[in-house]
Amino acid sequence: MVHIVGAGPGDPDLMTIKGQRLLSEADVVIYAGSLVNEEILKFCKPEAEIYNSAQMMLEEILHVMTLAEKAGKTTVRLHTGDPSIYGATQEQMDAMEARGIEFDVTPGVSSFLAAAAALKQEYTLPGVTQTVIITRRGGRTPVPDSESLKKLAQHQTTLCIFLSVNLLPEIKQDLMSAGFKSSTPVAVVYKASWPGEEKVIKGRLDTIVQQVKDANIDRTALVIVGHCLSSKGKQQSNLYSPKFSHMFRQARF
Ligand code: SAH
Repeated sequence: MVHIVGAGPGDPDLMTIKGQRLLSEADVVIYAGSLVNEEILKFCKPEAEIYNSAQMMLEEILHVMTLAEKAGKTTVRLHTGDPSIYGATQEQMDAMEARGIEFDVTPGVSSFLAAAAALKQEYTLPGVTQTVIITRRGGRTPVPDSESLKKLAQHQTTLCIFLSVNLLPEIKQDLMSAGFKSSTPVAVVYKASWPGEEKVIKGRLDTIVQQVKDANIDRTALVIVGHCLSSKGKQQSNLYSPKFSHMFRQARF
């Protein structure tokens, strides 16, 4: 049996209890070493065979899993954040299905959620935006033209941009040509939740490129853009309003 497990954004305490349990029981662990905090491997049993997938190709990963299956061992395939977001998990699941390897998936806390926590920010503010777009800027890995940052940005929603902090000048250009003003607030969160390593940079479209350069951040960071960042508490929600009734509470006015 193979368990695909989300390791969470970095802080070992942010891994789910189920994920920790599966990791502590695994005979074989294959972790995404380029991003997973190695501190998390402390949950593994001492005799577990541990592989870093950063140095492996898909076939090698599948080979390790297949051998483990034949030996009746349990494998954890550990991905950073949540496995469904830029995890390259689909090709592994498809291959396991084709080979008749049984597997399941345990979700994790994605880094865009840890970034909101670091910023102490709600992404969906009443009267500002009710939508969060998770995307990346096309670079070495292309993005379908219909989802280019220029097109997505026209909606003026909250944008959580993955895998692209090295393309910040291009992001700025795309957003400005989509109608975002140079004063639009932008945050860059590096290693969100990693104990002692997290960095939060807050700026505007016209300042962020230099700020991020000065902070020497070129990877493991999210770019968060949107009016929510400058609209704290502008309008209150209906949920806790005395004027609003819902299934669990009557209006009081
Ligand atoms: N599955 C992961 C994302 C993997 S893609 C998740 O759900 O978070 C790798 C990208 O995720 C990085 O380039 C960076 O943009 C982002 N990332 C991952 N961990 C991060 C963290 N702790 N802080 C900020 N960004 C992070």
